[in-house]
Amino acid sequence: MGFATDAIHSGQEPDPATGAIIVPIYQTSTFVQEELGKHRGFEYARTANPTRSALERNLAALERGKYGFAFASGMAAINALLTLFKSGDHVVAGHNLYGGTVRLFERVLKDFGLTFSYANTTRLEDVERAVRPNTRLLFIETPSNPVMEITDIAAAAELAHRHKLLLAVDNTFMSPYLQHPLELGADIVVHSTTKYLNGHSDGVGGAVILNDPALAERLRFLQNAAGAVLGPMDSWLVLRGVKTLAVRMRQHNENGMTIAQFLAKHPKVKNVHYPGLPDHPQRQLAKRQMAGFGGMLSFETGSLENAKTILKSVRLCSLAESLGGVETLISHPASMSHASVAAADRERGGITDGLLRISVGIEDVEDLISDLEQALAKI
Ligand SMILES: *Cc1c(COP(=O)(O)O)cnc(C)c1O
Repeated sequence: MGFATDAIHSGQEPDPATGAIIVPIYQTSTFVQEELGKHRGFEYARTANPTRSALERNLAALERGKYGFAFASGMAAINALLTLFKSGDHVVAGHNLYGGTVRLFERVLKDFGLTFSYANTTRLEDVERAVRPNTRLLFIETPSNPVMEITDIAAAAELAHRHKLLLAVDNTFMSPYLQHPLELGADIVVHSTTKYLNGHSDGVGGAVILNDPALAERLRFLQNAAGAVLGPMDSWLVLRGVKTLAVRMRQHNENGMTIAQFLAKHPKVKNVHYPGLPDHPQRQLAKRQMAGFGGMLSFETGSLENAKTILKSVRLCSLAESLGGVETLISHPASMSHASVAAADRERGGITDGLLRISVGIEDVEDLISDLEQALAKI
Protein backbone atom coordinates (compact mmCIF):
# COMPACT_ATOMS: atom_id res chain seq x y z
CA MET A 1 0.00 0.00 0.00
CA GLY A 2 1.04 3.59 -0.45
CA PHE A 3 2.20 5.70 2.45
CA ALA A 4 -0.98 7.75 2.92
CA THR A 5 -3.10 4.57 2.87
CA ASP A 6 -0.83 2.91 5.43
CA ALA A 7 -0.91 6.03 7.60
CA ILE A 8 -4.71 5.83 7.79
CA HIS A 9 -5.25 2.07 7.92
CA SER A 10 -2.14 0.17 8.98
CA GLY A 11 -2.40 -1.57 12.34
CA GLN A 12 -5.99 -0.41 12.82
CA GLU A 13 -8.92 -2.78 12.39
CA PRO A 14 -12.48 -1.67 13.22
CA ASP A 15 -13.04 -2.40 16.92
CA PRO A 16 -14.03 -6.11 17.18
CA ALA A 17 -16.50 -5.42 20.02
CA THR A 18 -18.52 -2.59 18.40
CA GLY A 19 -17.33 -1.97 14.86
CA ALA A 20 -16.04 1.50 15.82
CA ILE A 21 -13.92 2.59 12.86
CA ILE A 22 -11.47 4.39 15.13
CA VAL A 23 -9.37 2.39 17.59
CA PRO A 24 -10.87 3.17 21.01
CA ILE A 25 -8.90 4.68 23.88
CA TYR A 26 -8.60 1.58 26.04
CA GLN A 27 -8.35 3.49 29.29
CA THR A 28 -7.76 0.48 31.49
CA SER A 29 -4.93 -0.83 33.61
CA THR A 30 -5.80 -4.52 33.50
CA PHE A 31 -7.70 -7.12 31.46
CA VAL A 32 -9.93 -9.87 32.87
CA GLN A 33 -8.66 -13.35 32.11
CA GLU A 34 -11.05 -16.16 31.17
CA GLU A 35 -9.28 -18.73 33.25
CA LEU A 36 -5.82 -19.18 34.66
CA GLY A 37 -3.32 -18.68 31.87
CA LYS A 38 -6.04 -17.91 29.25
CA HIS A 39 -6.38 -14.32 27.99
CA ARG A 40 -6.80 -12.40 24.72
CA GLY A 41 -3.25 -11.12 24.42
CA PHE A 42 -3.59 -8.43 27.06
CA GLU A 43 -2.90 -8.88 30.77
CA TYR A 44 -1.61 -5.63 32.22
CA ALA A 45 -1.45 -2.28 30.42
CA ARG A 46 2.25 -1.54 30.99
CA THR A 47 3.07 -4.72 29.07
CA ALA A 48 0.56 -4.07 26.29
CA ASN A 49 -2.50 -1.90 25.73
CA PRO A 50 -4.63 -2.26 22.56
CA THR A 51 -4.50 1.48 21.70
CA ARG A 52 -0.74 1.56 22.11
CA SER A 53 -0.36 -1.73 20.18
CA ALA A 54 -2.31 -0.23 17.24
CA LEU A 55 0.03 2.77 17.23
CA GLU A 56 3.09 0.53 17.45
CA ARG A 57 1.94 -1.51 14.43
CA ASN A 58 1.12 1.67 12.54
CA LEU A 59 4.48 3.33 13.17
CA ALA A 60 6.35 0.13 12.28
CA ALA A 61 4.51 0.03 8.94
CA LEU A 62 5.23 3.71 8.19
CA GLU A 63 8.95 3.27 8.89
CA ARG A 64 8.95 0.09 6.75
CA GLY A 65 10.03 -1.83 9.86
CA LYS A 66 8.76 -4.97 11.56
CA TYR A 67 8.51 -3.92 15.21
CA GLY A 68 7.41 -0.66 16.84
CA PHE A 69 7.53 0.42 20.47
CA ALA A 70 5.87 3.55 21.84
CA PHE A 71 7.27 5.43 24.81
CA ALA A 72 6.21 8.29 27.08
CA SER A 73 8.49 10.76 25.27
CA GLY A 74 11.25 10.90 22.67
CA MET A 75 13.76 10.93 25.51
CA ALA A 76 12.19 7.81 27.07
CA ALA A 77 12.49 6.10 23.67
CA ILE A 78 16.17 7.04 23.33
CA ASN A 79 16.84 6.01 26.93
CA ALA A 80 15.21 2.61 26.34
CA LEU A 81 17.27 2.17 23.17
CA LEU A 82 20.49 2.90 25.07
CA THR A 83 19.62 0.30 27.72
CA LEU A 84 20.16 -2.33 25.00
CA PHE A 85 23.85 -1.70 25.77
CA LYS A 86 25.99 -2.41 28.80
CA SER A 87 28.49 -0.72 31.05
CA GLY A 88 31.80 -0.57 29.15
CA ASP A 89 30.16 -0.12 25.74
CA HIS A 90 31.07 2.91 23.64
CA VAL A 91 28.77 4.98 21.42
CA VAL A 92 29.75 7.29 18.55
CA ALA A 93 27.18 10.04 18.15
CA GLY A 94 26.67 13.05 15.91
CA HIS A 95 28.19 16.31 17.17
CA ASN A 96 25.00 18.31 16.60
CA LEU A 97 22.44 16.11 18.33
CA TYR A 98 19.27 17.32 20.01
CA GLY A 99 20.35 18.90 23.32
CA GLY A 100 18.24 16.58 25.46
CA THR A 101 19.94 13.56 23.89
CA VAL A 102 23.39 14.93 24.74
CA ARG A 103 22.21 15.68 28.29
CA LEU A 104 20.95 12.07 28.66
CA PHE A 105 24.24 10.67 27.33
CA GLU A 106 26.57 12.96 29.28
CA ARG A 107 24.75 13.51 32.56
CA VAL A 108 22.85 10.26 33.06
CA LEU A 109 24.15 7.31 31.06
CA LYS A 110 27.84 8.07 31.58
CA ASP A 111 27.26 7.37 35.28
CA PHE A 112 26.18 3.85 34.29
CA GLY A 113 29.43 3.12 32.48
CA LEU A 114 28.52 3.89 28.87
CA THR A 115 31.02 6.12 27.07
CA PHE A 116 30.36 8.54 24.22
CA SER A 117 32.37 10.21 21.47
CA TYR A 118 31.01 12.87 19.16
CA ALA A 119 31.88 13.24 15.50
CA ASN A 120 30.74 15.28 12.54
CA THR A 121 28.75 12.49 10.93
CA THR A 122 28.60 14.35 7.60
CA ARG A 123 32.30 13.39 7.35
CA LEU A 124 32.45 9.63 7.68
CA GLU A 125 36.25 9.61 8.02
CA ASP A 126 35.71 11.49 11.33
CA VAL A 127 33.24 8.83 12.41
CA GLU A 128 35.63 6.04 11.48
CA ARG A 129 38.39 7.68 13.54
CA ALA A 130 36.09 7.76 16.59
CA VAL A 131 35.32 4.01 16.47
CA ARG A 132 37.00 1.96 19.23
CA PRO A 133 37.17 -1.79 19.85
CA ASN A 134 34.28 -1.48 22.36
CA THR A 135 32.05 0.72 20.14
CA ARG A 136 28.60 -0.82 19.71
CA LEU A 137 26.39 1.96 18.36
CA LEU A 138 26.50 4.82 15.88
CA PHE A 139 23.73 7.32 16.72
CA ILE A 140 22.92 10.03 14.18
CA GLU A 141 20.39 12.74 13.40
CA THR A 142 19.89 13.90 9.84
CA PRO A 143 19.24 16.66 8.95
CA SER A 144 20.97 18.10 12.01
CA ASN A 145 19.44 20.72 14.25
CA PRO A 146 19.40 23.67 13.51
CA VAL A 147 21.87 24.06 10.62
CA MET A 148 20.40 21.25 8.53
CA GLU A 149 23.56 19.30 7.75
CA ILE A 150 22.86 15.97 6.05
CA THR A 151 24.50 12.66 6.93
CA ASP A 152 24.58 9.96 4.26
CA ILE A 153 22.54 7.21 5.95
CA ALA A 154 23.46 4.42 3.49
CA ALA A 155 27.17 5.19 3.80
CA ALA A 156 26.89 5.46 7.61
CA ALA A 157 25.16 2.04 7.67
CA GLU A 158 27.94 0.54 5.55
CA LEU A 159 30.57 1.95 7.91
CA ALA A 160 28.67 0.81 11.01
CA HIS A 161 28.24 -2.73 9.73
CA ARG A 162 31.87 -2.98 8.64
CA HIS A 163 32.77 -2.31 12.30
CA LYS A 164 29.94 -4.53 13.64
CA LEU A 165 28.08 -1.54 15.11
CA LEU A 166 24.36 -0.88 15.07
CA LEU A 167 23.23 2.30 13.33
CA ALA A 168 20.40 4.24 14.99
CA VAL A 169 18.84 7.25 13.26
CA ASP A 170 16.74 9.87 15.03
CA ASN A 171 14.23 10.53 12.22
CA THR A 172 12.20 13.18 14.09
CA PHE A 173 13.03 16.09 11.75
CA MET A 174 11.94 14.23 8.61
CA SER A 175 9.13 11.93 9.74
CA PRO A 176 8.74 8.61 7.89
CA TYR A 177 6.99 10.46 5.06
CA LEU A 178 10.26 12.08 3.98
CA GLN A 179 12.93 9.57 4.97
CA HIS A 180 13.12 5.81 5.53
CA PRO A 181 16.39 5.07 7.39
CA LEU A 182 15.68 1.32 7.72
CA GLU A 183 15.44 0.99 3.93
CA LEU A 184 18.78 2.78 3.66
CA GLY A 185 20.42 0.22 5.95
CA ALA A 186 19.93 1.64 9.45
CA ASP A 187 19.14 -0.89 12.19
CA ILE A 188 17.03 1.29 14.47
CA VAL A 189 14.88 4.39 14.02
CA VAL A 190 13.83 6.61 16.92
CA HIS A 191 11.25 9.38 16.97
CA SER A 192 9.97 12.06 19.19
CA THR A 193 6.31 11.60 18.17
CA THR A 194 5.78 14.96 19.90
CA LYS A 195 6.83 16.59 16.61
CA TYR A 196 5.62 15.72 13.07
CA LEU A 197 4.05 12.33 13.84
CA ASN A 198 1.55 13.79 16.30
CA GLY A 199 1.75 17.07 14.44
CA HIS A 200 -0.74 19.07 16.52
CA SER A 201 1.40 20.16 19.49
CA ASP A 202 -0.91 18.44 21.94
CA GLY A 203 1.06 15.49 23.26
CA VAL A 204 4.53 14.25 24.16
CA GLY A 205 5.65 10.79 23.04
CA GLY A 206 8.38 8.72 21.46
CA ALA A 207 8.95 5.56 19.46
CA VAL A 208 11.59 3.02 18.44
CA ILE A 209 11.20 0.98 15.24
CA LEU A 210 13.48 -1.87 14.17
CA ASN A 211 13.64 -5.10 12.17
CA ASP A 212 15.83 -7.57 14.05
CA PRO A 213 13.69 -10.06 16.02
CA ALA A 214 16.27 -10.63 18.80
CA LEU A 215 16.74 -6.89 19.34
CA ALA A 216 12.96 -6.43 19.27
CA GLU A 217 12.47 -9.12 21.90
CA ARG A 218 15.04 -7.46 24.15
CA LEU A 219 13.48 -4.02 23.65
CA ARG A 220 10.02 -5.41 24.40
CA PHE A 221 11.45 -6.80 27.64
CA LEU A 222 13.08 -3.44 28.47
CA GLN A 223 9.95 -1.45 27.61
CA ASN A 224 7.95 -3.54 30.06
CA ALA A 225 10.70 -3.81 32.67
CA ALA A 226 11.44 -0.06 32.86
CA GLY A 227 7.87 0.91 31.99
CA ALA A 228 8.15 4.37 30.36
CA VAL A 229 5.22 3.51 28.06
CA LEU A 230 2.94 5.85 26.14
CA GLY A 231 -0.53 6.03 27.71
CA PRO A 232 -3.69 5.12 25.77
CA MET A 233 -4.95 8.70 25.37
CA ASP A 234 -1.60 9.89 24.03
CA SER A 235 -1.29 6.83 21.78
CA TRP A 236 -4.71 7.68 20.35
CA LEU A 237 -3.70 11.29 19.71
CA VAL A 238 -0.64 10.14 17.74
CA LEU A 239 -2.76 7.64 15.77
CA ARG A 240 -5.12 10.48 14.91
CA GLY A 241 -2.27 12.84 14.00
CA VAL A 242 -0.61 10.28 11.75
CA LYS A 243 -3.73 9.92 9.59
CA THR A 244 -2.97 13.33 8.05
CA LEU A 245 0.83 12.98 8.06
CA ALA A 246 1.12 12.70 4.26
CA VAL A 247 -0.94 15.82 3.49
CA ARG A 248 0.66 17.77 6.32
CA MET A 249 4.18 16.92 5.19
CA ARG A 250 3.42 17.92 1.60
CA GLN A 251 2.33 21.33 2.86
CA HIS A 252 5.32 21.59 5.25
CA ASN A 253 7.58 20.90 2.21
CA GLU A 254 5.85 23.50 0.09
CA ASN A 255 5.74 26.20 2.78
CA GLY A 256 9.30 25.38 3.91
CA MET A 257 10.65 25.88 0.38
CA THR A 258 8.67 29.10 -0.13
CA ILE A 259 9.86 30.62 3.17
CA ALA A 260 13.45 29.51 2.53
CA GLN A 261 13.41 31.18 -0.91
CA PHE A 262 11.84 34.34 0.53
CA LEU A 263 14.49 34.57 3.26
CA ALA A 264 17.36 33.74 0.87
CA LYS A 265 16.37 36.72 -1.31
CA HIS A 266 15.80 39.12 1.60
CA PRO A 267 18.53 41.80 1.86
CA LYS A 268 18.61 41.68 5.66
CA VAL A 269 19.11 37.91 5.89
CA LYS A 270 22.71 36.72 5.72
CA ASN A 271 22.48 32.99 5.28
CA VAL A 272 19.65 30.44 5.10
CA HIS A 273 20.15 26.79 6.06
CA TYR A 274 17.63 24.69 4.11
CA PRO A 275 18.52 21.55 2.16
CA GLY A 276 16.20 22.53 -0.71
CA LEU A 277 18.11 25.69 -1.61
CA PRO A 278 20.52 25.43 -4.57
CA ASP A 279 23.49 26.63 -2.46
CA HIS A 280 23.02 24.00 0.29
CA PRO A 281 26.33 22.08 0.26
CA GLN A 282 24.58 18.69 0.37
CA ARG A 283 21.58 19.31 -1.82
CA GLN A 284 22.28 16.30 -4.06
CA LEU A 285 22.56 13.94 -1.10
CA ALA A 286 19.38 15.45 0.37
CA LYS A 287 17.55 14.87 -2.93
CA ARG A 288 18.72 11.28 -3.06
CA GLN A 289 17.96 10.35 0.52
CA MET A 290 14.87 12.43 1.34
CA ALA A 291 11.48 12.53 -0.40
CA GLY A 292 11.22 16.28 0.31
CA PHE A 293 13.12 18.99 2.12
CA GLY A 294 10.72 19.37 5.03
CA GLY A 295 9.62 22.33 7.11
CA MET A 296 12.69 23.07 9.22
CA LEU A 297 15.12 25.86 8.42
CA SER A 298 17.36 28.38 10.14
CA PHE A 299 18.71 31.75 9.07
CA GLU A 300 21.31 34.28 10.13
CA THR A 301 20.11 37.72 11.22
CA GLY A 302 23.63 39.04 11.89
CA SER A 303 23.42 39.70 15.64
CA LEU A 304 21.71 38.84 18.90
CA GLU A 305 20.08 42.29 18.79
CA ASN A 306 18.55 41.59 15.37
CA ALA A 307 17.38 38.14 16.45
CA LYS A 308 15.69 39.63 19.54
CA THR A 309 13.98 42.33 17.48
CA ILE A 310 12.54 39.76 15.09
CA LEU A 311 11.35 37.53 17.93
CA LYS A 312 9.64 40.53 19.56
CA SER A 313 8.05 41.64 16.31
CA VAL A 314 6.51 38.45 14.89
CA ARG A 315 2.76 38.19 15.40
CA LEU A 316 1.75 34.99 13.62
CA CYS A 317 4.93 32.96 14.20
CA SER A 318 5.08 31.94 17.87
CA LEU A 319 8.26 32.07 19.93
CA ALA A 320 8.45 28.55 21.39
CA GLU A 321 10.51 25.39 21.74
CA SER A 322 9.48 22.29 19.76
CA LEU A 323 8.69 21.76 16.08
CA GLY A 324 6.64 19.76 13.64
CA GLY A 325 3.20 21.09 14.53
CA VAL A 326 0.66 22.67 12.19
CA GLU A 327 1.51 26.13 13.54
CA THR A 328 4.71 27.99 12.75
CA LEU A 329 7.20 28.26 15.60
CA ILE A 330 10.30 30.41 15.71
CA SER A 331 13.13 29.95 18.18
CA HIS A 332 16.61 31.10 19.12
CA PRO A 333 18.81 27.98 19.24
CA ALA A 334 21.79 29.59 21.03
CA SER A 335 19.70 30.45 24.10
CA MET A 336 16.97 27.80 23.82
CA SER A 337 17.56 24.31 22.35
CA HIS A 338 21.36 24.63 22.39
CA ALA A 339 21.85 26.71 25.56
CA SER A 340 23.61 23.80 27.29
CA VAL A 341 26.18 23.50 24.47
CA ALA A 342 29.49 25.30 25.19
CA ALA A 343 29.65 28.66 23.36
CA ALA A 344 32.80 27.69 21.40
CA ASP A 345 31.17 24.44 20.22
CA ARG A 346 28.04 26.37 19.26
CA GLU A 347 30.00 28.86 17.15
CA ARG A 348 31.94 26.05 15.49
CA GLY A 349 28.67 24.36 14.57
CA GLY A 350 27.27 27.58 13.04
CA ILE A 351 24.86 28.19 15.93
CA THR A 352 25.59 31.89 16.27
CA ASP A 353 23.81 34.38 18.53
CA GLY A 354 22.08 35.78 15.46
CA LEU A 355 20.70 32.46 14.22
CA LEU A 356 16.93 31.87 14.30
CA ARG A 357 15.20 28.57 13.60
CA ILE A 358 11.75 28.23 12.09
CA SER A 359 9.51 25.20 12.16
CA VAL A 360 7.36 26.21 9.21
CA GLY A 361 3.73 25.28 9.80
CA ILE A 362 0.92 24.74 7.31
CA GLU A 363 -0.79 28.12 7.53
CA ASP A 364 -1.33 30.15 4.34
CA VAL A 365 2.24 30.85 3.33
CA GLU A 366 1.44 34.45 2.26
CA ASP A 367 0.46 35.20 5.86
CA LEU A 368 3.73 33.77 7.15
CA ILE A 369 5.72 35.81 4.64
CA SER A 370 3.92 39.06 5.56
CA ASP A 371 4.62 38.36 9.22
CA LEU A 372 8.33 37.74 8.61
CA GLU A 373 8.49 40.71 6.23
CA GLN A 374 7.16 43.16 8.84
CA ALA A 375 9.44 41.67 11.53
CA LEU A 376 12.55 41.89 9.27
CA ALA A 377 11.66 45.51 8.45
CA LYS A 378 12.32 46.37 12.10
CA ILE A 379 16.03 45.45 12.00
C1 LIG B 1 12.19 16.77 20.59
C2 LIG B 1 13.25 15.86 20.15
C3 LIG B 1 13.67 14.78 20.95
C4 LIG B 1 13.11 14.54 22.33
O1 LIG B 1 11.76 14.20 22.30
P1 LIG B 1 10.73 14.51 23.50
O2 LIG B 1 9.45 13.98 22.98
O3 LIG B 1 10.73 15.99 23.72
O4 LIG B 1 11.23 13.78 24.70
C5 LIG B 1 14.65 13.94 20.45
N1 LIG B 1 15.21 14.15 19.23
C6 LIG B 1 14.84 15.18 18.45
C7 LIG B 1 15.49 15.37 17.12
C8 LIG B 1 13.86 16.08 18.88
O5 LIG B 1 13.50 17.10 18.11
